[in-house]
Amino acid sequence: MESLFATFFPGDCRICSDPLLNISRLPVCTDCLTKIKPFQGSQCDICGELLVSRNFQGEEQGSPLCGLCQQVRPTYIRAVSGGPYEGVLRDLVHLLKYDRVQTTADILGKTLADAIAPLFDEVGPNAVIIPVPLHNSKHHQRGFNQSERVAMHAVRALGKEFRAELIISALQRKRATTSQTGLTRHQRRLNVRGAFAVNPLHKRIIAGRNVILVDDVFTTGTTAQECARVLVRAGAAQVWVATIARVSRLEPFSALEVSQIGQEEAASAATGNAIGGEF
Ligand SMILES: [Zn+2]
Ligand SMILES: [Zn+2]
Repeated sequence: MESLFATFFPGDCRICSDPLLNISRLPVCTDCLTKIKPFQGSQCDICGELLVSRNFQGEEQGSPLCGLCQQVRPTYIRAVSGGPYEGVLRDLVHLLKYDRVQTTADILGKTLADAIAPLFDEVGPNAVIIPVPLHNSKHHQRGFNQSERVAMHAVRALGKEFRAELIISALQRKRATTSQTGLTRHQRRLNVRGAFAVNPLHKRIIAGRNVILVDDVFTTGTTAQECARVLVRAGAAQVWVATIARVSRLEPFSALEVSQIGQEEAASAATGNAIGGEF
């Protein structure tokens, strides 16, 4: 946890270890922050997966889809993210989630807002922003829900024009899901089935409205798909998904990166399975 001392006196950047020159509540240097970059190259028009080439697939002109989305259309319209889940962006997410450095929520919220802003024309005004909930046990353990915190900062950064209403507890996590790490896509889907429900108190608020579902990391999309399914069944018009970062299966983790991520993640990366756990 951050001490009072660390809050007011600069130390070293928590990402690159260079001394911090400015007094800031965010223990990350400006040099590192400039390294947050959006995806380069063409992405699947629905799930945002990187595509090998522009002519990879494109059943509709100008809207290429990955193989998975061609097979089964997700319930959500489109998933956007602030950038690839790697480098500084991943470090910042880790600082927030695992080291509980809550001052990172501001920059992560701005990154998320940059991803959401281009959706304005298709989502329209009067949309609802709903963060993916943590299970109560996880929430208590961490003390906060990272998706909720980042969504709050994103709404602030989006400003009044977007007119999106943040509803914190619209979704409920009915049961804790086991870690998604190392599971196949099919196992992941079974793992999250029935894990979410729409809060009965909020059913009327979301009825007929467009929803932007906010999560920290898009890994395989099973959590996003399940939440979107539950929201549409409860009466939401259409669902978009916005995450701070997205894992891309086309970008293998280097050995150095594997050493930086958790043992669980490393084990799963080494066996070629999907990386990271959605929790
Ligand atoms: Zn730095
Ligand atoms: Zn796709």
